[in-house]
Amino acid sequence: MTTNLLDFDLEGMAAFCEQLGQKRFRATQLFRWIHQKGASNFEQMTDLAKALREKLAVSAHITSLKVVSRHESTDGTIKWLFDVGAGDVIETVFIPESDRGTLCISSQAGCAVGCRFCSTGHQGFSRNLTTGEIISQLWFAEHFLRKHLGKGERVISNVVMMGMGEPLQNYSQLLPALKVMLDDHGYGLSRRRVTVSTSGVVPMIDRLARDCPVALAVSLHAPHDALRSDLVPLNKKYPIAELLEACTRYQSAAPRDFITFEYCMLDGVNDQPEHARQLVELMKIHAVNGLSCKFNLIPFNPFPASGLVRSQMPHVLAFARTLLEAGIVTTVRKTRGDDIDAACGQLAGDVQDRTGVGQRMAAQRQGMLAGIKVVVLDKDAA
Ligand code: SAH
Ligand code: SF4
Repeated sequence: MTTNLLDFDLEGMAAFCEQLGQKRFRATQLFRWIHQKGASNFEQMTDLAKALREKLAVSAHITSLKVVSRHESTDGTIKWLFDVGAGDVIETVFIPESDRGTLCISSQAGCAVGCRFCSTGHQGFSRNLTTGEIISQLWFAEHFLRKHLGKGERVISNVVMMGMGEPLQNYSQLLPALKVMLDDHGYGLSRRRVTVSTSGVVPMIDRLARDCPVALAVSLHAPHDALRSDLVPLNKKYPIAELLEACTRYQSAAPRDFITFEYCMLDGVNDQPEHARQLVELMKIHAVNGLSCKFNLIPFNPFPASGLVRSQMPHVLAFARTLLEAGIVTTVRKTRGDDIDAACGQLAGDVQDRTGVGQRMAAQRQGMLAGIKVVVLDKDAA
């Protein structure tokens, strides 16, 4: 089996070049061809000697994930399903906004954390994605979008690890992928514009601070341990106090001066006035130690197996007001309308969407998802 060059960060690529008897600086050239120009074969790499190109062709390849389908919304949002083998698919979502282009990337096929409100969690865990599979999502989307939008320059300015899976439970594969995203010879993204979202794997938050401090989002969802353990089972291992202490430590390394907390609003479960008051008290205690936070309230995107219901908007707004009055910066993500729920249901009928990430992203992002066009690609076209 030859080596997939999408698996390497720059250091790994340099080591690979050395193995081939090449100077380390060749790694920079290869990196630029692959990540900046989207090359998928060595013939394209015209500034490399022919002998080297031939050597590379027998020892390495540049292979992205296979696309199963592409869904396009009239607002420009694009969702891809990628085949990762053994019947598993993962999702990647591109969300254009006036001042940025955000790509939501998956880190695992399924997820072992098993949060009650998450369809990926209900599906269970299949396997970790490799670095190459994580970075493939960015490589493919960036170069597809440049062609699709007819743009020469960079399209994706932000990456959020908010797709399928718990990124900090796949740390060894995540870390080189983050480095490729940040590398000036790779995608050159700013640390502030790469966000790792986690359900709270405390020791790995500390490692991320040391190894590659990017923006951090923490999925909190509850103001006290009893409720959080019920919603996010990982809380039994890493309870709220430990998690918030890790966030406080992270802050000194973080590229932003706050940690974002995500809070999925579940009707009658975690959206009551007392929950908002408890949350304010909780954050006050940790503010004394230096934690500064921003809250993102996400209306729950329902799916039948959850048995949960989206909070009513007046409750969401009242919750937000309590936080705001306590001086906590809070935003509420807009949700799509009921007609859009129908659109998502139809999508799932066309292409088996086992992850629900696209629906979740649709629920999370600003803007509406009306008029979705489904493009199902056959294997050759993909
Ligand atoms: N595993 C990581 C990242 C992937 S989930 C994490 O949990 O943070 C990304 C975000 O989507 C998390 O904040 C998660 O709580 C949220 N989410 C999951 N299921 C959802 C749903 N059904 N509706 C709305 N948000 C959801
Ligand atoms: Fe996993 Fe995140 Fe879903 Fe929880 S919310 S099951 S951690 S993907």
